[in-house]
Amino acid sequence: MPELPEVETVRRGLATRGLGRVEAVLWLDPRMVRGPVPGEEIARRLLHQEARGAERYGKFLVWRFASGDGLLLHLGMSGRLEVGVAPDVPWAPHTHLVVLLTDGFEVRLRDPRRFGRIGWVVGPPALRVGPDPLAPDFTARRLAQLVAGRRRAIKAVLLDQASLGGVGNIYADEALWRARIHPATPAGALDERQVARLHRALRAVLREAIASGGTSFRDYVDALGRPGRFAGRLKVYGRRGSRCARCRGRIETMHLAGRTTHFCRACQRPAEAGDRPVVMSTEG
Ligand SMILES: [Zn+2]
Repeated sequence: MPELPEVETVRRGLATRGLGRVEAVLWLDPRMVRGPVPGEEIARRLLHQEARGAERYGKFLVWRFASGDGLLLHLGMSGRLEVGVAPDVPWAPHTHLVVLLTDGFEVRLRDPRRFGRIGWVVGPPALRVGPDPLAPDFTARRLAQLVAGRRRAIKAVLLDQASLGGVGNIYADEALWRARIHPATPAGALDERQVARLHRALRAVLREAIASGGTSFRDYVDALGRPGRFAGRLKVYGRRGSRCARCRGRIETMHLAGRTTHFCRACQRPAEAGDRPVVMSTEG
């Protein structure tokens, strides 16, 4: 499933190539539409809109128009947004929406498994999405406030989109490995240094993944059809049984928060009994 770096990579493609006036709209399958505005009405509203750019809210995208309205998109498990497609390129199977722009190229949405979502928004979307971990104001202090007093495993808190926007299974596992934190650690039990390490690790892994165009396993490609190149740099995700790059221990998996969770038992030790959480007191 596309996470923050993959969705951000698609956003950048849409923001640079999905510009101009909408000349024609073709719905091949309006069943992916969620929300009060039906597919035919979205198609009518899209026509003649002037596309101005794209915004990201966690794993959601908004294709924004000069009118202030926007097309809300979630790529789900297998959604692909293709921009800059020549109209004579045959439609791939499972293409649900085709938008022709004045530059003569098309934006196409395809989604074989149809877990994606399309909707219409006026102004900022009403989504239950927590702060963006790459936002300038997402400080270590903010992360400390977010985990304080919570008994849920830190991995579950990282995955909770209402707590934090955009982190999914891959980057949660990678960030926790970098920060040397066991994924099952109760979030509120992290001490100040662990929170600071996790904050650094999370932002670093997300930034590096964006720089590599994201991680491709099965379905994901960017808006220009290119796969992400970050898979080769993953340290734990998908590496069960391999040696840990830090301590040469074995990468193991456990089931946590409904997901397969990858970690190194040797250098991501569970909190010792009697460890006391330290209240975050410093700024920044
Ligand atoms: Zn290790």
